[in-house]
Amino acid sequence: PLEAKSLNVIFAGHVDHGKSTLIGRILWETDAISKEKKETAIAYCKKNNIAFEYAFLLDSLVEERTQNITIDVTEVHFFYGQRRFRIIDAPGHLEFLKNMISGAAKADCAVLVIDASSGIGDQTKRHAMLLSLLGINQIVIALNKFDLVHYSQHSYETLSQECKSLFERLGLSYLSIVPLSAKAGENIVERSSRLSWYRGGSLLEVLLGLKSSASAESSPLRLPIQDIYRFDDRRLLAGRVEAGKIEQGDLICFFPSGKKSRVKAIHHWPAESSPRLVTAGKSTAIQLEDEIFVERGEIIAHENSAPLVATDFSARLFWLGDLPLVIGAPYIFRLATGQCMARVLQINRVIDGSTLEDLKPIPIEVKKNETAEIILRTSAPIACDPFDQIQSTGRFVLADKDRISGGGIILKALPSKPLHE
Ligand code: GDP
Repeated sequence: PLEAKSLNVIFAGHVDHGKSTLIGRILWETDAISKEKKETAIAYCKKNNIAFEYAFLLDSLVEERTQNITIDVTEVHFFYGQRRFRIIDAPGHLEFLKNMISGAAKADCAVLVIDASSGIGDQTKRHAMLLSLLGINQIVIALNKFDLVHYSQHSYETLSQECKSLFERLGLSYLSIVPLSAKAGENIVERSSRLSWYRGGSLLEVLLGLKSSASAESSPLRLPIQDIYRFDDRRLLAGRVEAGKIEQGDLICFFPSGKKSRVKAIHHWPAESSPRLVTAGKSTAIQLEDEIFVERGEIIAHENSAPLVATDFSARLFWLGDLPLVIGAPYIFRLATGQCMARVLQINRVIDGSTLEDLKPIPIEVKKNETAEIILRTSAPIACDPFDQIQSTGRFVLADKDRISGGGIILKALPSKPLHE
């Protein structure tokens, strides 16, 4: 029987290291792509006299989705060994961050693609850093282009050593290092005879052994309000249950306002489909027993498992704005469906994105591609959670004049101190 939960796999890696080729090859070999589509792709290449590239397959799928209005690359999926895998592609840092805040990148695991012929690149390090920031701790390293290093065991050992020290520096761990060739199709589905010295599984075998992350259903309820609207004289609060579950009759509390009410009814459309209970991952609309004034951005929770409410937080942040992040400057802060202004009070640590070294003395600004530990103050109290407890209400983005310039995670709330300026 098919496992109900699919495994969300994020693919990351330095540009040109073969991420698209690998995804294309996987989709091809697992028959995630229809026979017609395969034939069309081959015929197209033949007709235009271009060499067939597996990487095109992914582009064409994404293209299709763009035309179908919703560009949701998270819908690219394949089946292997009775399991459904959903591919999250991370074309660049910005997309990575956008996916991260929108929740699209709720990855259970990551495949970090590294070109064996050129080794670890700058973007490899940054992506590894982002994975560590995102708290993704099931990581598989795919050493691609092994055809270019003649499937050599020596290359595997040297590269494995480099990966090991990179990961140690970031406090990350990996599950396996899989040598493969996306282009030649070696060690992707079946183990490769060219890699007879290699003792581990093929990439898909390794992925099959991964665990899906603990179900968000067992977490405390978090339902950020997205919209409030009237329907047939009823006032409905709409949003997506990010964690836990909500049931008709529940006594609920709104954060940060602290207002309380009870769930009178849950309304879905068509009306007959309205459930009594809604669990994590689903969108819903609820009607309250009382006509209280609540706003978009507030988070619904049960009273005995409240989120943090504060203005000062310690956070870890990845910056990719062209202008550096500076202490005291106003940024737009977005967390779940809420938004307000925020300023950095203090920078406690900055890590260089290329060397991964702690910068000394501690800089007074954070530049593009650097990771920092900061203390942040929001213009109004916000509700959130430490990222290691509830991810969807524990991550935020900072925008500089409407451009997403950084993303981060909440470490903890701090008692607020007067700000000396
Ligand atoms: P991406 O930027 O990481 O998505 O990289 P692409 O998938 O577009 O691949 C970049 C280039 O590397 C393309 O020319 C691919 O044909 C080539 N490539 C990808 N995988 C392999 C491989 O396993 N072996 C060889 N020799 N070339 C590969």
